Amino acid sequence: MTAGSGKLSAGCDVGSLAAKVVIVDRRRVVASAVVRSGPRPAESAKKAMDEALSKAGLTLENIGCCVGTGYGREKIPFVTERVSEISCHGKGARFLVPSARSIIDIGGQDCKIIRLDAKGNLEKFITNDKCASGTGRFLDVMAKVMNITVAELGERSLASKDPVTLASMCTVWAQADVIKYINERRAAADICAGINAAMANRVSMMASAMALENDICMTGGVAKNKGVVHALTRITGKRLKDIRQIDPQLVGALGAALFAGEMR
Ligand code: ADP
Repeated sequence: MTAGSGKLSAGCDVGSLAAKVVIVDRRRVVASAVVRSGPRPAESAKKAMDEALSKAGLTLENIGCCVGTGYGREKIPFVTERVSEISCHGKGARFLVPSARSIIDIGGQDCKIIRLDAKGNLEKFITNDKCASGTGRFLDVMAKVMNITVAELGERSLASKDPVTLASMCTVWAQADVIKYINERRAAADICAGINAAMANRVSMMASAMALENDICMTGGVAKNKGVVHALTRITGKRLKDIRQIDPQLVGALGAALFAGEMR
């Protein structure tokens, strides 16, 4: 099964936690979908593509070229080409924020910091994919311990007056700390803020090895966590450019769709 002969292009980003599809008509987004990834990347990709196609009343025949990206990209059955996540996040971010020079992409199981030159070409990148701290997984585990959603973890932290400090960045030990604070009846907002700050600290340590260049924007699912964005701004002392035109979790799939458009 491959994309058809239609005039539209698509990008499919199969990540560790979510599969994302963006369909574009030239450079205009016509449909998108985010679905939870299952154990089989091919099925997750198909589910996301079917959802995006159905939202726009389309079939795969309408898609002339599809680029796959993300950790599951080798397994996507309907792609024409495969492109790395680094390139796709760079492409998508630069399309949305033409002045972007640094991109912080935090997904479910890794964190990447990407630097582009003035023309938008890839200059340098670093990745943390060895440890859950500094990734969306860290936040997902902590939200579960708090018995709230990851979206609430971000929202609630904004009301914090006295954030807790997590003694360790290790997910296992940080979890023990969070349980201790819950038992001490510390305010939920303060625990949430401590969790988001621990995450931001870890990312900031990575960023210091890269010398972030303005303008900076954040992509990936964790960019939706307002508490992490707030903490990262505070800790790095740098302003992050808002991505408003599209869900930031879709930026990699958008970049893939834009590459697909150029291949047709
Ligand atoms: P991957 O590409 O590895 O699947 P994503 O870029 O899709 O990762 O991001 C997944 C992460 O996004 C989750 O671990 C979660 O922490 C975060 N996330 C997803 N939805 C939300 C939301 N509504 N609010 C805050 N964080 C979110």
